[in-house]
Amino acid sequence: MEKIKKAAELIKNSKNITVLTGAGISVESGIPDFRSAGGLWSKYDPFEYAHIDSFRKDPYKVWKMLKEMHQILQGKKPNRAHIALKELEDLGKNVVIITQNIDKLHTLAGNSIVYEYHGVWDKLICIKCGNEDSIENYRLDEIPHCEKCNFPYKPDVVFFGEPIDHEIMQKSNEAAENCDVFMVIGTSAQVYPAAFLPNLAYRKGIPIIEVNLESTPLTSSLNTIFLQGKATEIMDKLIKEVTNE
Ligand code: NAD
Repeated sequence: MEKIKKAAELIKNSKNITVLTGAGISVESGIPDFRSAGGLWSKYDPFEYAHIDSFRKDPYKVWKMLKEMHQILQGKKPNRAHIALKELEDLGKNVVIITQNIDKLHTLAGNSIVYEYHGVWDKLICIKCGNEDSIENYRLDEIPHCEKCNFPYKPDVVFFGEPIDHEIMQKSNEAAENCDVFMVIGTSAQVYPAAFLPNLAYRKGIPIIEVNLESTPLTSSLNTIFLQGKATEIMDKLIKEVTNE
């Protein structure tokens, strides 16, 4: 059977669908992933600029990158792939989205259960005193500082070297282990512990559908139903098959 038909059959026969998404699902919304040539991450090495030790050492240096990131993320809209996941929910499926993205596009697309595994870009947190604020309250011509202790705020995103929120991690693990089909869309599956979630599903014998431009370490190790191509195009085809359009 054609792979897309096989994937659509699995989805049709599933009530509970858990989806892990990565930067690739948002590329067609105009947000480059880690690999895109000429993107933010070819200018700033993420393992240097997005490491918590770098922020502690020199928050002003890291904010140079954060300001550019803010400009890239501002005003971006969900694309057909994000919307397709909302459509699965509209078809009566219980869809849990675990996203590594900080862009909030799944929430904007209208999905009701979204675990933002690596946090969100528009919330600010003070790593000294724990105070919180919204980035919308600041014009970013200057670096936002905590109004209580005056330390530079950090966006509430999980930097390399920081732990994942315990509750989100627990709920994500549960969703990975308790679904009928697990989908992985647009992730290179190299950032842990998120990359481990498909393994949890696999160990429970849950089938895995993978959507990506290229194969990943998961493709052969977890024997995924690998749908190769742009997330928008594949998800469009998949929804059409599921709804028999
Ligand atoms: P990654 O950049 O390592 O990998 C992206 C993957 O998406 C690659 O495997 C690539 O082949 C695939 N891809 C690219 N364009 C695609 C498309 N149009 N359709 C389908 N697949 C496509 O990203 P990652 O695995 O998410 O992990 C890196 C980290 O980057 C995450 O922690 C995430 O928080 C962070 N990040 C987030 C954003 C965002 O919020 N949109 C953007 C860049 C990086």
